[in-house]
Amino acid sequence: MTLSGPIAEEWAAAVAAVRSLGTDDEIQLICHVNPDGDALGSMLGFGLGLARLGFTRVRATFPGEFAVPGPYSALPGSALLVPEAEAWTDPRLVAVFDVASESRLGGLAGRLTAAPVSVVLDHHASNTGFGTVRLVDSAAAATSVVAEQLLARLGVELDAEIAECLYVALATDTGSFKFDMTTVAVHELAARLIATGIRPGEISRRIFDSRPFGAMKLTGEVIGRAVLEPGAAGGRGMVWTYATLADLERHAQQPYVLDTLIDPVRAVAEADVSVVVREVAAGEWSVSLRSKGAVDVSGVAVSQGGGGHRLAAGFTGYGEAAQVVDTVRRLLDEYLN
Ligand code: 5GP
Ligand code: MN
Repeated sequence: MTLSGPIAEEWAAAVAAVRSLGTDDEIQLICHVNPDGDALGSMLGFGLGLARLGFTRVRATFPGEFAVPGPYSALPGSALLVPEAEAWTDPRLVAVFDVASESRLGGLAGRLTAAPVSVVLDHHASNTGFGTVRLVDSAAAATSVVAEQLLARLGVELDAEIAECLYVALATDTGSFKFDMTTVAVHELAARLIATGIRPGEISRRIFDSRPFGAMKLTGEVIGRAVLEPGAAGGRGMVWTYATLADLERHAQQPYVLDTLIDPVRAVAEADVSVVVREVAAGEWSVSLRSKGAVDVSGVAVSQGGGGHRLAAGFTGYGEAAQVVDTVRRLLDEYLN
């Protein structure tokens, strides 16, 4: 558990690790399974920064099926992306982005121990402390905040391509500059990114407002079955819904279209806690938890082998959707009584 940002020695170690490399040394960047805007944006932004420094063998990847969610498929730096199977097997340096625990690296976790140096850039309070150099700032709104600081220390100047990646990461992880961690520093970083010439309106339309019609229909159906339980979470209220693989198939949609399903659910005024349970394989569910402030949902997630932040966390659940929700309801009551 890290309570504040990296110390000077950690920054220095990360800078030294990069500076000690030759420009044709192999560098492997890895972000978490089912990558989101922060995972991909911070990784590709940093990868482009390394390219600007002259490094020629930078590869970026993530575990699992090589499918980049539609909104992020045109990010600058996408040329650095390779499928998991094409990741460097014996890199001189590994850097890991937005990964709270090694379990989120799937089959790529072994790359960390294989490399002489592994730099972890992250902002999860639940980060388990893996890697040889740990740049973990639980007060940072996004991993891209940490990535930008490391780029600055390496002497990389922001350009529009790097900025677009870091901006997408920042905008997605702050809920478009709405969440609690949206500090003065976040807006100052956003200002510096926009000053490179990127267009926030265009980027936002592309990543937030370009959804298939079927995704809207699917979302409508899933929201239509949401349940409000005013007495749950110690009387603070819980709202939940679920989506199955069959739902996705019926509407011919990719799983990523449900990544933002939690947003309309968490807006329900009568509930402090919101829960979205998405089937990712038969009987296996990705559970998203949110709180408006009264409940530390990361405690629930960590107790189930997951992680996250105080007000936004997740874990993998098993069985039927209703059983997974039962577990969350029971754990919330335990935490609150
Ligand atoms: P989301 O609900 O958007 O998938 O995730 C919310 C937060 O919880 C993110 O910060 C994410 O990293 C974390 N999270 C979600 N699922 C898991 C999980 O299975 N394991 C861990 N360690 N963290 C998770
Ligand atoms: Mn993040």
